[in-house]
Amino acid sequence: MAAPTNIHPVFNSLLTRADKEKLLSQHARVIWLTGLSGAGKTTIARQFEIELNKMGYLTQILDGDNVRTGINNNLGFSEDDRFENIRRIAEVSKLFLDCGIICINSFISPTKKIRQMARDIIGNENFIEVYVNASLAVCEKRDTKGLYQKARAGEIRNFTGIGAPFEPPEHPDIELKTDTPTIAESVAQGLEMILPLIQYKKF
Ligand code: ADP
Repeated sequence: MAAPTNIHPVFNSLLTRADKEKLLSQHARVIWLTGLSGAGKTTIARQFEIELNKMGYLTQILDGDNVRTGINNNLGFSEDDRFENIRRIAEVSKLFLDCGIICINSFISPTKKIRQMARDIIGNENFIEVYVNASLAVCEKRDTKGLYQKARAGEIRNFTGIGAPFEPPEHPDIELKTDTPTIAESVAQGLEMILPLIQYKKF
């Protein structure tokens, strides 16, 4: 749909992202957690937020189930709707970025194409791709939401890992293998790599 012609957004009089980052003493990024259902994205996102909050960072979590019951409650799981879901999430993330806030996004985002779209909208320099990597066998055994069982029973079509593929990122910025490490170990491993990217530096 083309943008309406009678809308005249004004951006040049607004404070810049740098002004807001200075106020918050942090650099904004989008931490994008991708991986199979049950791999640990939501668990790690929540722990990242708790730990970063203790260190004085302002964050916002965007999570699949929450977004789908709110801003994206009119979208399903067709390919078009999956793209629109991620497109809106990426645009919302950009608003947080412009406000200097660190966005922690937890979405299966199963294909390279869909993650690339998010990266293009958010900007390569702002995007930290975290591959939360647990094997299908482990995720299916955890079956935290009972979805694998339903997918195996044919009750959910196109479920990622069963009826639809998950394309692992080839060069993620961070890979957290979550089959065997404890949650605390995975969180610590991720934060060690994220902190240098968000620590405030005066230029
Ligand atoms: P997702 O959001 O990817 O669907 P969840 O975070 O909802 O996954 O569920 C992951 C499950 O795996 C939780 O029950 C969590 O306690 C467990 N788990 C075990 N080890 C880890 C780990 N190292 N990192 C994250 N989660 C883990």
